[in-house]
Amino acid sequence: MSAGDLPAFATGLAGVPGELIDALSAPLVDHHVHTSFAGPVARAEFEECLNEGSPEPVPAYMTQFDSQIGFAVRRWCAPLLGLEPHASADDYWARRTELGEEAVARALLPAAGVRHWIVDPGYAGDRVAPTATLADWSGTPCSELIRLETLGEELLASGIAADDYPAAFRARLAERGPQVVGAKSIVAYRCGFDLDWSAPSDAAVRAEVRAWAAATGAATPRMASPLLSAFGVHAAAEAGLPIQFHVGLGDRDLDLHRVDPMLLLGLLRQPAIQRVPVLLLHCYPFHRQAGYLAQAFTNVSFDVGLAVNYAGARSVEVVAESLEMAPFARQLYSSDAWGPPEFHLLGSVLWRRGMARVLARWVREGDWGVADAVRVVRMIGSSNAERVYRLTT
Ligand SMILES: [Zn+2]
Repeated sequence: MSAGDLPAFATGLAGVPGELIDALSAPLVDHHVHTSFAGPVARAEFEECLNEGSPEPVPAYMTQFDSQIGFAVRRWCAPLLGLEPHASADDYWARRTELGEEAVARALLPAAGVRHWIVDPGYAGDRVAPTATLADWSGTPCSELIRLETLGEELLASGIAADDYPAAFRARLAERGPQVVGAKSIVAYRCGFDLDWSAPSDAAVRAEVRAWAAATGAATPRMASPLLSAFGVHAAAEAGLPIQFHVGLGDRDLDLHRVDPMLLLGLLRQPAIQRVPVLLLHCYPFHRQAGYLAQAFTNVSFDVGLAVNYAGARSVEVVAESLEMAPFARQLYSSDAWGPPEFHLLGSVLWRRGMARVLARWVREGDWGVADAVRVVRMIGSSNAERVYRLTT
């Protein structure tokens, strides 16, 4: 294969076997993603997205483009918008503005080479497009997740009687449409993981909802109850749904020291939970703990999405570390992109590039056979997700 034949993700990589390039070129299943911006965004808002942790405006003394992810945007997205690789931030922004959000999305989303998105529609849905728009702009089918905390908040906002809450919660999970393939918990943001994970009685749930309703009054309900989070997770398991947990990095509202996935051991040891897949999302900097848990529990899988984007050129090490402890059947590909369609693309390019570098080295040095490398790419890139979520497309 000559250099000119290489797909974009393999540009500049030497000594990657053709079989591995072919396997990595196959379409991915992105098992945890959000949609992209619905309409025009200001540069300040875009630059804030280049920083996951800080809710503050980018200071005047810097541009957030001066970061691993900013460099990666200019390297990998600029050519798809008709610019040279590494175009300046100002040139990139001018071109992006000229094209408009939909044209940018239509240029970048299909280039991610994803054949199925599993969408979490729950975060800041007013700022990003509906799932159907992601499907349209990318030309790719989508499934969705149901957010457990949002479901509880919707029930409370509907004025439900506390006595009816447990049954209504279970009914909403049972009545989910065919597009819903799993549940998602953001208990990490609300309480952390160091809570009592035993299944609460319905009487305890009713009492907790009564107290929550009284404390909420006319305000928009926000669920931050460990007991109700535990109830939601157990109800999702009863419904047979795969359960995704936000783990690891997020914005600074998150008490990162309370979301080490080891704190989920009390949940993961319960037989009722072991009956459904548990997916630990974007686990950096706890990806080694997550890899251990994926080794220790046959129903646990994990990914290193989000961190791969923010690590940019260093993501090869994150990808390599993800391949340490966990069986390869229990790792999944995810971008965790939200907002800029650049992120949907970057997740795929950087993961493919990281896998190409890491696996090619192991093949070249004789530790792995190329056929095994090809199988592992297929497992993590798509077939593990198809099995976990019972996808048919
Ligand atoms: Zn997410």
